[in-house]
Order: sequence, then structure tokens, then C-alpha cells
Amino acid sequence: MIDSQATHASRDEAAPSDGAVFELTDVACSYGGLTAVRDVTMNLGRNRVTALIGPSGCGKSTVLRCLNRMNELIPGARVSGTVRYNGEDIHAADIDPAEVRRRIGMVFQKPNPFPVSVYDNVAFGPRLNGFRGDLDGLVEDCLRRVGLWSEVEHKLRSSGLALSGGQQQRLCIARAIAVEPDVVLMDEPCSALDPIATLAIEDLIQQLKDSYTIIIVTHNMQQAARVSDMTAFFSVGDADSSGHRAGTLIEFDTTNTIFTNASDQRTEDYVAGRFG
Ligand code: ADP
Repeated sequence: MIDSQATHASRDEAAPSDGAVFELTDVACSYGGLTAVRDVTMNLGRNRVTALIGPSGCGKSTVLRCLNRMNELIPGARVSGTVRYNGEDIHAADIDPAEVRRRIGMVFQKPNPFPVSVYDNVAFGPRLNGFRGDLDGLVEDCLRRVGLWSEVEHKLRSSGLALSGGQQQRLCIARAIAVEPDVVLMDEPCSALDPIATLAIEDLIQQLKDSYTIIIVTHNMQQAARVSDMTAFFSVGDADSSGHRAGTLIEFDTTNTIFTNASDQRTEDYVAGRFG
């Protein structure tokens, strides 16, 4: 059932006003029979940045991968509960996981450009999808949207791997948005970047949220406070009879509330740096 701590009504204007993109109900995920995270019930709003925070191992990345069926690619992973995306159960028999992943793109911790040119990195997805329009225009538009165009317009044919780490991560975001997703999932997108590149990505997230719904996993609380409208705090629960501790959603609310007026003592302790 719905956990009142996890789902109580949000209290300020950052709360979703125009419908949920994702509705998660009693979501749990296990690997090889061991529960990694459980009892996740929350609605994620459109054109919002939602941060998933909490100590290492509490299941943040696992929950993120539940949103676009990426966990299915991990042998032994099993997801239960319901994940609705725009009202549709993404695990329903007639849903194509490849289409789910096209609509719900992902950017990873370590920038991972393909070992091809800057241009071909961005053009990869549209070509795969049989894009028939102005590919040059699309590549330029995506590179402009991530603030990379002026830096790479004269080296479009150079390898994406020759860019700096921060540029590579923006290239990966350009690659993700080139297939016109609805949602961009980001799993610790700045953890391999220096502070300046990190700020560039944070600025970019603010710009992208006008067009996309963004869910970001971050271990950096200041980053969550800076970039997100909503925050979900996860932690590890009590040990079961065999000593195993699964992650769980403790509290989900506006970022302002989570950081200044949390309902749960565990959230308050975590954001105050008292544990984790
Ligand atoms: P977080 O992102 O909060 O650090 P994760 O979602 O990565 O947490 O991990 C949650 C739990 O699931 C941890 O106990 C971790 O060891 C386990 N886990 C994560 N990915 C895998 C995997 N591919 N195979 C087996 N166990 C995994």
C-alpha cells in the first residue's frame, strides 16, 4: 500500500501541476533473489527535475533503471510492482522495451561516447530509427541545445573520444536527445567531471527541463538542491532474518521541503550530513 511518509502531498509550487509522467506503485527490484530496493511508490511530474538521493547501495540507480526497463538487461534482475509511464504499464505484454528506451533516454556516470566522430555520435540514434529529414540540421540543433556547437563545429568529423570529459558528457546528452525522448534519466552524470564541467551540466539540466522530464541520481546533496524541483530520499531498511538490508523510499517531496522541513528524521539526518 501507499506509504504516507513516501507520498504525502507536496507543499509548494515545485510540485507537479500538470500530471505525472511516471507513477510507481509498490515497485521492488531484486538481483539473484536478493531484494535491492522495495516499497517504492511515487509520482514523477512532467517537465520537472527529480533527484534521487541517499547513501550508496540504497537502490537509487536500480530505481532509475526500472523507469526504462534497463534492469531487464541485467541477468538475474527481477522487477515487481507497477511502473506506469504516461498512464501505461511499461511491463504490459504489448509494450516494446526498445520503444520504452527510445522515449526514455539515459545518460550514464562515465561519459561513454561511441568511438566514432562527434557528428556520428549524435546521428547514431536517428539513423537507427530511419530518420529521413535534415540530419545535418538535427545534429547541429542537438549540439546547440547542449551548448557544445561552438566548441565542436569545426571538428564534427573528429572522434567524440577526443573531447574533454565535460564535453563528452554533453555529447552523450546530445546523443540522448537526438531521438526526441520524452524523459532523460541521468545516473550520477557529473561524478566523473571537474567542478566547471559539473556546473555546465547543471546549467544544461535547467535548460533541458523546459522540454524534457529529467530524473537524476546524485550522491551530491548540494547538486540535488541546486538542480531539482522534487527529491526522493532513499535509505537502507532494517536487516531481514538473514541479515540482508534492502533499500527503500523514505520520503518524496519538493526539494525545498526535503532540505528544510523533512518529515522523516532519517531524511533530516541525511541532508544535515549526520549519516550516510
Ligand atoms: P545506489 O545507486 O543507491 O548506490 P544500486 O541501485 O546501485 O544503489 O544498488 C542497490 C543494491 O543492489 C546494492 O546492494 C547493489 O549491490 C545491488 N546491485 C546493483 N546492481 C546490481 C547488479 N547488476 N547485480 C547484482 N546486484 C546489484
